[in-house]
Amino acid sequence: MTRVLPDSELEMFPALEWPVVAEHMSSESRNALDQVMASQDGSVLSREQCLLLANAEGDDLLGLLVAADMLRRDLVGNIVTYVVNRNINFTNVCFVGCKFCAFSRGPREEDSYFHSLETMAQKAIEARALGATEVCIQGGLPHGLPPFYYRDILRAIKAAVPNMHIHAFSPMEIVYGVELTGMPLPDYLKMLRDNGLDTLPGTAAEILDDDVRFVLSRNKLSTEQWKQVVRTAHQCGIRSTSTLMYGHVETPTHWVNQLELLRDIQQQTGGFTEFVPLGFVHQNTLLFHQGIARPGPTLAEHLKIHALARVMLAGAINNIQVSWVKLNRRLSQLCLHAGANDYGGTLMEENISREAGATAGQYTSGEEFQSLILEAGRIPAERNTVYTRISLKVPPDQVAIEEALEPEFA
Ligand code: SF4
Repeated sequence: MTRVLPDSELEMFPALEWPVVAEHMSSESRNALDQVMASQDGSVLSREQCLLLANAEGDDLLGLLVAADMLRRDLVGNIVTYVVNRNINFTNVCFVGCKFCAFSRGPREEDSYFHSLETMAQKAIEARALGATEVCIQGGLPHGLPPFYYRDILRAIKAAVPNMHIHAFSPMEIVYGVELTGMPLPDYLKMLRDNGLDTLPGTAAEILDDDVRFVLSRNKLSTEQWKQVVRTAHQCGIRSTSTLMYGHVETPTHWVNQLELLRDIQQQTGGFTEFVPLGFVHQNTLLFHQGIARPGPTLAEHLKIHALARVMLAGAINNIQVSWVKLNRRLSQLCLHAGANDYGGTLMEENISREAGATAGQYTSGEEFQSLILEAGRIPAERNTVYTRISLKVPPDQVAIEEALEPEFA
């Protein structure tokens, strides 16, 4: 019978060595992980092997975590990156009604808000003054939004800070923009690109399964629409992130389906920059209070999804990000040992997870990221949104780290 690990034992996995842990694993799980480590390619796994790993417990789970960490080291080294950015949630007014969302408000609610274009431009100017290279813009979907409002946001920000990278508009917002303007999807995306849209957040994915989506949010875009927006954006030269929300009503089979789907899209377009597992923050949500969802992920689930992503996406999407706003400090660091190599963005003002009950805060400074990463035994580096510019952040008393680096990063 499989041994269920207490959290205290699970937390010790970073100290384990592969040969020792492999000895206690089932031969099926060990063989699957050996195949990926030898080829550094997650597509060598059969669907049955992926499901086996997604359901791993006990010693097989420990083996998955250790193997994911080894793969991470082989594929992307010991550097942990982050981006200095500012989140701008330009309105919390939204008609969609996702049951996992505690951020949205009705238009007449006392604490509803809508930032003007001038306010957003001012926020971008402030962000640049604080060293941000990116603004991340997403908001609620209010009824009656002026048809070209998303374009106007881009123009206002680029006019204020011309070389600010704009990472904006979820696939749900893109579908809404298409509906508002009546433009064909490719034309709409090209129009946004030509007005300053640099990359797209691959959010609004949650679980890409229409049965699950119907439970989470009846009005949300369908799986097919999400795929269509993301594929078309990539074809128009707009790269995107990719995400999955876990710890609510989904099962490990949904994780496998989604990771396979993302890997397939990546093989066709090469447009994903990273994969971000997003833990469900349950406290203030209808989904939890109506008894539909479990109360967020367990420690085993947090670690397993990061490790499974590293293994299944190996060779396709090699940047696996921890979403620090949804995890606490210790858990984020543990996920860095379970396959992750990126700490996400400094954010400056994070509202969505905080409203749902997350307590990790609204802002982590670059300096704090650096100390968290060094504390986890890794090397911090600032990157831009598409992982092309890396500047190392090695403190003067740790030059030995710099000397140990591969030449291209030194
Ligand atoms: S998740 Fe987004 S689309 Fe859904 S209710 Fe919240 S703000 Fe609206």
